[in-house]
Amino acid sequence: MSENYDVIIAGTGAGGLYSAINLPQHLKVLIITKRELILCNSALAQGGIAAVYQPEDDSTRLHTNDTLIAGGFKNNPDSLKILVTEAANEIEKIISLGVDFDRDENGNLHRTLEGGHSRHRIFHHKDSTGFEITTKLQETVKKLPNVTVMENALLCRMKKTSTGFSADILIDGVHKTCNARKFILATGGIGRVYDYTTNSAIATGDGITLAYEMGANIKNLSLIQFHPTAFNNKHTRECFLISEAVRGEGAYLKNRDGERFMENYDERLELAPRDVVSHAIVTEGRRIESDEFYLDITHKDPEFLKNRFPMIYKYLLSQGIDMTKDMIPIYPCQHYLMGGINVSTKAMSSIDGLYAVGECSHTGVHGNNRLASNSLLEALVFGRQAAEDIGSNLAEAELCPLDELESGDFPVNEAAEPIPHGLRTEIRHIMQKSYFVIPDMREALAGFERISEIKRLLEEGDFAIDYNYVEAKSLATVAYLILKEVI
Ligand SMILES: Cc1cc2nc3c(=O)[nH]c(=O)nc-3n(C[C@H](O)[C@H](O)[C@H](O)COP(=O)(O)OP(=O)(O)OC[C@H]3O[C@@H](n4cnc5c(N)ncnc54)[C@H](O)[C@@H]3O)c2cc1C
Repeated sequence: MSENYDVIIAGTGAGGLYSAINLPQHLKVLIITKRELILCNSALAQGGIAAVYQPEDDSTRLHTNDTLIAGGFKNNPDSLKILVTEAANEIEKIISLGVDFDRDENGNLHRTLEGGHSRHRIFHHKDSTGFEITTKLQETVKKLPNVTVMENALLCRMKKTSTGFSADILIDGVHKTCNARKFILATGGIGRVYDYTTNSAIATGDGITLAYEMGANIKNLSLIQFHPTAFNNKHTRECFLISEAVRGEGAYLKNRDGERFMENYDERLELAPRDVVSHAIVTEGRRIESDEFYLDITHKDPEFLKNRFPMIYKYLLSQGIDMTKDMIPIYPCQHYLMGGINVSTKAMSSIDGLYAVGECSHTGVHGNNRLASNSLLEALVFGRQAAEDIGSNLAEAELCPLDELESGDFPVNEAAEPIPHGLRTEIRHIMQKSYFVIPDMREALAGFERISEIKRLLEEGDFAIDYNYVEAKSLATVAYLILKEVI
């Protein structure tokens, strides 16, 4: 038995939740997440959200300029204009939904600085801004009478139908078909295609893969941002991020010998854009034959650090590092995807009625490299764009009854075997070796051949359609698309 909705949203990060909030309430909406609500990249965001809001010394022109410089002037000017001009509205709206940004002693909103920004324009909630925003958006969505929220619901397969879209969703081990007139993919990034990433376990590129399989235009998947300062614990796959804001507050980057070295690479020193700093670290590491690097903020007042970075301070203490006294070991790791499902300024993909918002989308706002704290903003601004476009396309009077929506057929073979062990690990190792900060073309060429084989095996084999299968196929597909662009 299938279920029918006006709109299905896959993903409960900032992009998916904000889309749901902005959809007209006469629409019946389903929003799903493959794990628990809080497991997403949005909840991990530390630094904050960039916006020109109540500026004294700032302007959308400056925000545009900084974003263009970080993006190598490859940004889409139309999308970027929407991003910077709508930013103030979104900040105001999320404050009205209860988001509590830090304020100074006079009660004014506090704005911090991050790499590549020429002005203090990052609004933040201590160093856990994403958690604050995500939980407040979740609370709002749960109160919406027209929205059904489903946790532990994995979007496995999708089809375009004559009336919209049909989706195969795995809930508590059971496959269910859900149909909708419009579909929003808000499934986040692809970090788990690498050994070392700051991303949440959900970031396996599922939405990008499903859109690609339906024939949507996917763009710039090889534009991957490697964050320069993840906590250097090479034993865990989920690398804890040491926010850019720590450099924004004055931390120095030092090499194994305790020397600052950024002056040899870029005049903006520690506050150069992320790709520049990551490149500098890897190049300096090759020069001195070491991957030992540190962030040093011990020259700042300890009480200020504990109050400004409570989450980072606590985490580092649990790892035996007191950031008020010790240098913090860091190294670059995968952090963000600039490319994705190519969308219009209304967040619609090349397939009519299929929208993509947040990290799985390619709006073009970031160009070749994202400016810090522009991605939460992008998820909100284009989440609203998608919702408003759907609202204007699904005017109440024109809608046919929901039970007339066409339902797709998704066969399930109960006897099918699980996928072979070790494929995901193999994919991650290939990507880590062939395309990390500075690409290795020899590894990339060999890697592409093997990834193509794995992708074919997963597409053609008769395997059980479960979490392991869906995520492995997604990882193989995004690795394939990335390396295809690289070689
Ligand atoms: C450690 C860290 C720090 C960051 N700091 C900042 C910052 O300070 N400022 C900033 O602007 N950006 C920051 N970012 C980036 C930013 O958080 C993300 O780009 C943004 O939040 C992505 O939002 P999203 O809604 O697109 O995806 P996510 O928040 O990742 O949500 C994806 C959702 O999709 C669901 N999903 C995925 N696949 C499926 C499937 N098959 N079926 C069902 N559901 C599925 C997931 O369960 C999840 O709910 C940071 C990222 C990380 C990892």
